[in-house]
Amino acid sequence: MFPDATGRPTDRPCSLCANTQHNSLLTAEENMFGMGKMFDYLHCGHCGVLHILDVPPDLAAYYPTGAYYSTQRKSWVTQQLARLRDRSYAYPSLLGSLLRSRFPSPALQATLNIAQDRTTRILDVGCGGGALLRSLADLGFEHLYGVDPLITAKQTHEGVHLLPGELKDVHGEFDLIMFHHSLEHMPDQLNVLTAARERLTPDGRVLICIPTVDSLAFDAYGRHWGQLDAPRHLYLHSHRSIRELACKAGFQISALHCNSQPMQFWTSEMHKDGYPLISAHLKIYKRRRIRFFRQLTIWANSVDRGDQIAVQLRA
Ligand SMILES: [Zn+2]
Repeated sequence: MFPDATGRPTDRPCSLCANTQHNSLLTAEENMFGMGKMFDYLHCGHCGVLHILDVPPDLAAYYPTGAYYSTQRKSWVTQQLARLRDRSYAYPSLLGSLLRSRFPSPALQATLNIAQDRTTRILDVGCGGGALLRSLADLGFEHLYGVDPLITAKQTHEGVHLLPGELKDVHGEFDLIMFHHSLEHMPDQLNVLTAARERLTPDGRVLICIPTVDSLAFDAYGRHWGQLDAPRHLYLHSHRSIRELACKAGFQISALHCNSQPMQFWTSEMHKDGYPLISAHLKIYKRRRIRFFRQLTIWANSVDRGDQIAVQLRA
């Protein structure tokens, strides 16, 4: 392990497994908006999870209205290019395939790995503005629902039903319940997964796409790791801790694979140099050493060391 990922010893217990042995503390800065605030995280010596020590009472203040990426409206051109790329996952075209090879959608790919039948009832928990669900609607999926606390009102558009709120506010049964980079934002993870199990059909699946500390990027950059995203990311799981959590909620893991992207390296490089994600330096860092970071990403994923994973659960 690189020295930057190591922390200070602590006897505070892990909030996931209650372990008190060989735990350490790491202090990370809010690095998306450059708010300049610091937060302590506990790295568990048993299950390997990295979790925030104390959830800020004003957590909503770290999701400025309209500024958080999941709810931002993309430009018309960006939206059309994304639709072209996403359609190519089912209906190949030259331009779509080119876009897909350069700017893949790990979320859509992970979803289609599970859901082939267009009648699958899908719920996306923490769906943001619903972009992934709209892509699925474009591919012919008919039963699409999303829920997110940042949505301001119930809405139905292009066959996609969006609800304000949390999973506990959703009624009905689903064949697939998905958490695309949303579970790490939720404080009560066991209750959330238990609620998901209660809303699944007998053959239903859960798909969780999350950042992971079992990665080259976390080892190399530690508190500057791009996906640490303090304080919004409350739990950064290891492969072991997500297995233990799933098991406690009555699930077994049927598949787990890495689908990290090159941004794991350039965002971490930015933070290491002291720039927040919204900095004007973003474009420079996105281009810097991009070929090397792409190759490094392919290698990291191939040896299960990428910094995000797609995890399939079944009851
Ligand atoms: Zn633990």
